[in-house]
Amino acid sequence: MDFVEQLKSSVDIVSVVGEYVRLRRSGANRYMGLCPFHNEKSPSFTVHVVHQFYKCFSCGAGGDVVKFVMEKEGLSFHEALKSLAERYGIPMPKRSQYADEDSKLRGALLAMHEQAEETFRANLKSPAGETARSYIAKRGLAQETVEHFGLGYSDRSGRALVRLFEQRGFPVAQMEESGLVGKRQDGSLYDRFRNRLMFPIHNESGKIIAFGGRALSPDDEPKYLNSPETPIYKKSHVLYNLHRAKESVRKDDRVILVEGYMDVIGVTAAGFRNVVASCGTALTAQQVQAVKRHSHRIAVNFDPDAPGANAAERSVDILLAEGMQVRIVELDGDLDPDEYCKERGARAYQERLDGAKGYFYWLADRARAKHDMRTSEGKVAVLNFLLPKVQSITDQLERMTIANDVAAYIGVDRGMVLDHFRKAVSERNEKTIERPKSPLRHDERMLLIALLTDAALRSDIIGPLRSLETIETLPSRRIFQAIFALDEAGGRVGFDEINGRLEEADQNLLAHTVLNDDSEISQEEVSAAMESMQRSERQHIRVRLKTRIGESERAGRLDEAMRLTVELQALERDARVKRV
Ligand SMILES: [Zn+2]
Repeated sequence: MDFVEQLKSSVDIVSVVGEYVRLRRSGANRYMGLCPFHNEKSPSFTVHVVHQFYKCFSCGAGGDVVKFVMEKEGLSFHEALKSLAERYGIPMPKRSQYADEDSKLRGALLAMHEQAEETFRANLKSPAGETARSYIAKRGLAQETVEHFGLGYSDRSGRALVRLFEQRGFPVAQMEESGLVGKRQDGSLYDRFRNRLMFPIHNESGKIIAFGGRALSPDDEPKYLNSPETPIYKKSHVLYNLHRAKESVRKDDRVILVEGYMDVIGVTAAGFRNVVASCGTALTAQQVQAVKRHSHRIAVNFDPDAPGANAAERSVDILLAEGMQVRIVELDGDLDPDEYCKERGARAYQERLDGAKGYFYWLADRARAKHDMRTSEGKVAVLNFLLPKVQSITDQLERMTIANDVAAYIGVDRGMVLDHFRKAVSERNEKTIERPKSPLRHDERMLLIALLTDAALRSDIIGPLRSLETIETLPSRRIFQAIFALDEAGGRVGFDEINGRLEEADQNLLAHTVLNDDSEISQEEVSAAMESMQRSERQHIRVRLKTRIGESERAGRLDEAMRLTVELQALERDARVKRV
């Protein structure tokens, strides 16, 4: 057994996935939950216990436990193995044995980012960094803060990194993959960031994986430019400053979410170390999950303007879906968090934090401001606005408590709220039952499952099945072929091995087949399926013979037509004997 197999056989996918997704048992071999790879309200994400894989029927995400960790944590194959091995205390073979191309590339990209950061820092101190330094002074950042956040400056030359990377011998392809260097039509290379104040972005283990750059000249667009996605940088997975903040987040059991780099820096400088931002993207479920491992309590502090409030509302939907407890920090005087800390000081900011409203009260206030609460229409409108959001709270007890509180807060009858809930719950249940129908015939599905799950049954039926032409006409023919090929090669015929030989469409078909099955399969069912398949085979051959007879007659090959007709008659006699 190689290391990957050994690892996978000692790790339970249900418990690994269960760290990120609330899973509910939904069948003998199945668990279901809300998909961590897309945003959904009713679960279509399934984990199969026996075959150890996951599949989402809505967004199509699927794979084995290693793939899950790669996708969830944004890791390479090798890193995902390592992370699982560490979690389960399984000794890992030496890196050199697994230093695949992928990890080599990632190693090079990390090195380039480190060198870029050094260059940017040096630039900031050089005469060329004058504009950047005066911007920093204008924003009131202390030298210590600048150092702490590793701020730097990308000069105007547009060649500084290109030259550096050339000197250090990085191939052009790697330079491009780094996202730090672009390539013009004529093939020449240039630095992506020019004349900008640079903010290094780190992954959770503190490695620099990207940069954000703020324009220093009003003519430069956009105001904030971020690294593109690269093999080491998945925007939707990264929260700015999480690697520094996480310890304080744990200690305070609360995280503060702000909008931008400068807010993070300003609030941190005021002494609040548990602050993060989702930079360059709207908040994603993956980002929330990254922070959720450290605390479930979050204080959202976005800009006081309308876009800020709207962004807060959108973010909160995702936060609630992830089971976070959300409070909204409101700052007076139209100040953003950075400005507020500077103008009013840390004490005042602490007070705003402590006084932050529970999300639903904040939302209720927003809704109340838009409707006339003296009329019952107004109250119903506010209720209709609030309830879907209350329903997205994952914890049932908390959901009911908040529904009650909100009803009292906006002054509507509790009964009305409960009615709403019952309706929504029954709708939700209906949705959950929806299970994609298998596109396969019953006998086809039974035989596949037998081949997949039972080695003894497999050795009984694989020979006869292999000789059937009708297999070639089935939607699942490529799955059968993969099983035949594996069996012939004499290796293991497990889900993973089969899956590994299939294209994506057939992988989906395989997942559907397995997930539609729930019961232990019996010898009788397999025999019945086998007989049914053999009937198909005879039918298939009869149809083929008839076609050939027709062709021979039309071509004037009457001898041949006669011989085939005799063959066909024999078959049909045989079929009557077997009562088909
Ligand atoms: Zn999904």
